[in-house]
Amino acid sequence: MINVPKGTKDVLPADAYKWQHVENVAREQAKLYNYKEIRTPVFEHTELFLRGVGDTTDVVTKEMYTFKDKGDRSITLKPEGTAGVARSFIENGMASGALPAKMYYIIPAFRYERPQAGRLREFHQFGVEVFGASGAETDAEVISLADSLLKKLGVQVRLYINSIGCPTCRKAYNEALKAYFAPHLDGLCYDCKTRYEKNPLRLLDCKEEDCKKINADAPSILDHLCPDCKAHFEKLKSYLEEAGIEYTINDRIVRGLDYYTRTVFEFVSTAIGAQGTVCGGGRYDGLIEQLGGGAVPGVGFAVGIERLLMLIEKNGADVIKEEKPVVYFVGMDDDCRKKAFSLCLSLRAGGVWAETDHMSRSVKAQFKYADKLGAKYVAVLGGNELAEEKLSVKNMATGETESVSFQEVCTYFQEE
Ligand code: ATP
Ligand code: MG
Repeated sequence: MINVPKGTKDVLPADAYKWQHVENVAREQAKLYNYKEIRTPVFEHTELFLRGVGDTTDVVTKEMYTFKDKGDRSITLKPEGTAGVARSFIENGMASGALPAKMYYIIPAFRYERPQAGRLREFHQFGVEVFGASGAETDAEVISLADSLLKKLGVQVRLYINSIGCPTCRKAYNEALKAYFAPHLDGLCYDCKTRYEKNPLRLLDCKEEDCKKINADAPSILDHLCPDCKAHFEKLKSYLEEAGIEYTINDRIVRGLDYYTRTVFEFVSTAIGAQGTVCGGGRYDGLIEQLGGGAVPGVGFAVGIERLLMLIEKNGADVIKEEKPVVYFVGMDDDCRKKAFSLCLSLRAGGVWAETDHMSRSVKAQFKYADKLGAKYVAVLGGNELAEEKLSVKNMATGETESVSFQEVCTYFQEE
């Protein structure tokens, strides 16, 4: 038997409606906020992620699915959505179009990680990007979009915000971090020793318990923000307050990717264990330039759909309602089955969700199957009905039956 690759999962037909619900709500929410969908390839040149995600991040150093294609190009399956969107923004000259460019995506993403609950090798994200607007009101809008989506889906999370400043303030902060960590170097994990040299800010993102303990007393970036970054952060807070969006400031949040500037945020749940971050995002004013475009600011987030579904399911199995067929046609013999087949087709043509027998089953077995499907009505067709060109329609909830002619049957169910 061939199994799915480690860290991947099938979405089975019985569960697909849950995914569709989340995707529909996400699309609807994006539309209300005036974001348009962008679809970029599942794979990109590896170079894009080296430059666009950052070569000191875990994603790039350890987690990418990178391979040579038959033309000897280095290709990588996208580990996240932002770099591809940024590449497309530059390549398609969107900077000279209408700004800000507000876009969203629903994508599979690939990271070679140790699979656990809420941590997969193929997972899915709903994300948004806004390019061209630098003000904190846009950060607040992006946060509000994530917040409203999570609320619509009924999940309880807490919003943490932070500012990690700009290259100017971060320079001084990195020095302060290095000074703090220098005497603790021996106690840090192997990765953090490299982070100390290459990108001290990353030290705060380590998930090792020993490192976390040392991190607790590290200096705060919020004490090192330059006046402009400080004003930006203050404005964000005032916009969130005006909008009634509750937040907690957490100066340890630095985000896993290198391209962030100023605002960073996470929506975290305590209900699904260690992998509690369902949404992460922030501002990345240097990204487009880093990828060879102009100086175009950007801000966005990504929600992990698997983690979101775990949270939704915590609220009870039936929080998302599955739609069911309207009518199941039971044919008592072969002639009746043939008529049931064509009536079923005409109902479908009229936009009614209908089903009929495919297995030459007995009437009893057909009723049983209709019940399993959850059909609201069962329309029975026997010899008498066939002769009189009518159906005996049973409402499965009330048990009532009604006689409906072949002619009227389509309108009968369309009005349901
Ligand atoms: P974590 O700290 O949990 O590793 P991250 O900072 O690497 O998360 P991001 O790159 O910000 O995650 O991705 C955004 C969201 O995508 C996360 O908040 C999470 O919900 C989801 N996500 C990230 N990696 C995975 C994964 N391997 N499996 C499932 N979901 C994931
Ligand atoms: Mg990660």
